[in-house]
Amino acid sequence: MGVLGAGLAGSRAFAGSDNSSQAAPQASPDAPPKIKEYRTLGRTGFQVSDISCGFIMDEGVIRAAYESGMNYFDTAEEYPGHHRVLAKVIKYMDRKKVFITTKLEATKGETKAGFLKRARKALEELQAEYVDCLMMHCPEKAATLKDEGFHAAMAELKAEGRVRHVGVSQHGTFWFRDPEETMEKILLAAADDGRFDVFLMAYNFLKRDNAERVLEACGKKRIGVALMKTAPIAIYYNLKSRIEALEKDKKEVDPLYADGLKRYKEKYDAAQEFIQAHDLKNPEQIRDAAIRFVLGHPGVHTACCQTQTYDALNGVVRLSGTKLTVADNAKLEAYREGCGSLYCRHACGVCEPSCPQGVPVNTILRYQHYFAAQRREKEAMGFYANIPGVRADACRDCGAPCEAACPYGVPVQGMLLVAHDTLSMP
Ligand code: SF4
Ligand code: SF4
Repeated sequence: MGVLGAGLAGSRAFAGSDNSSQAAPQASPDAPPKIKEYRTLGRTGFQVSDISCGFIMDEGVIRAAYESGMNYFDTAEEYPGHHRVLAKVIKYMDRKKVFITTKLEATKGETKAGFLKRARKALEELQAEYVDCLMMHCPEKAATLKDEGFHAAMAELKAEGRVRHVGVSQHGTFWFRDPEETMEKILLAAADDGRFDVFLMAYNFLKRDNAERVLEACGKKRIGVALMKTAPIAIYYNLKSRIEALEKDKKEVDPLYADGLKRYKEKYDAAQEFIQAHDLKNPEQIRDAAIRFVLGHPGVHTACCQTQTYDALNGVVRLSGTKLTVADNAKLEAYREGCGSLYCRHACGVCEPSCPQGVPVNTILRYQHYFAAQRREKEAMGFYANIPGVRADACRDCGAPCEAACPYGVPVQGMLLVAHDTLSMP
């Protein structure tokens, strides 16, 4: 058993451990599933549903999430139109029983007045008197956590009762970021800073090493922990259709382009064989196991899900209060062994310094994840179009030194070429 394998097995000990959870009443068998477990969100003291609501654009699905018992709703200034969609549901909510978070970026040297203006606009769009947590959205480096304008604005908003807690979100590097400024470094600095009560961070069964120390620090300082990117598997299944489309088109491609795709295809085919051989055909089973895995960690309070349909929502609500099983662990280990190389780890970026062109590998493959796994197609394409520097078309004429630099065996060039093809579709 490898290191991760040992960790997965060890994680069974997490399941059911005490993290101040409370049981909720059971629903009748015919009713839509209900949230069954609430956990204390660190020093906020709020009892948060173990499964919670991320960036969902359908008002009806958000309302169904609320009616299921979910009570943590995440949004951001950067999510186009999302404040206004969420506002339509907030007006139906028992406001004291829900925890609303939004986020502001702090990367542009904003003044206190600027932050105040943006925060008030967010509150107006949400039609909310207050938000339970206002997060600094993915600061690009640890030093940004000390932004005086941000903290002065938060202090004023807290005094006015319009912000209850301050938090921070983080999911990985950007192309402009110093590779030393990792998620781990930034969030450990945020834990030390003491002003951030809640973290929203990336953590999953394929990418644990950069988060375990953060979760430990959060436990010691009683910081609330919400997770994103908890089930990094849908991209594998969704990329299938893109590969098939590329093959169907039979476009004439230059040899380097073809080689990159070939290496990707080889890994993809091997993974597919593995899936057939190990009875992993149902992606929902892997997703369920992946979510149970993160919820089995005693330092995790809620897993934020971006379910865009009622069926998908019900699928994750059913996981509330359930525990990771031996069979789940076996599936996750098998998936990691057979398909793990097709996942560019969130919050990574290890290979980026090896790229002579400066391609923002992790960022582009995150946008691909938004497109393929989260069904945020239009938004992902917009993000990709707005990358100011080199994009993945640069990978065509390259010997791909990034692939040797990736410790996870990701066929980077092929995945980037597929991402370019997907994210640039007319
Ligand atoms: S390709 Fe590999 S090294 Fe590069 S960012 Fe992704 S997981 Fe990290
Ligand atoms: S294939 Fe070449 S250009 Fe593309 S990310 Fe890798 S090293 Fe950079």
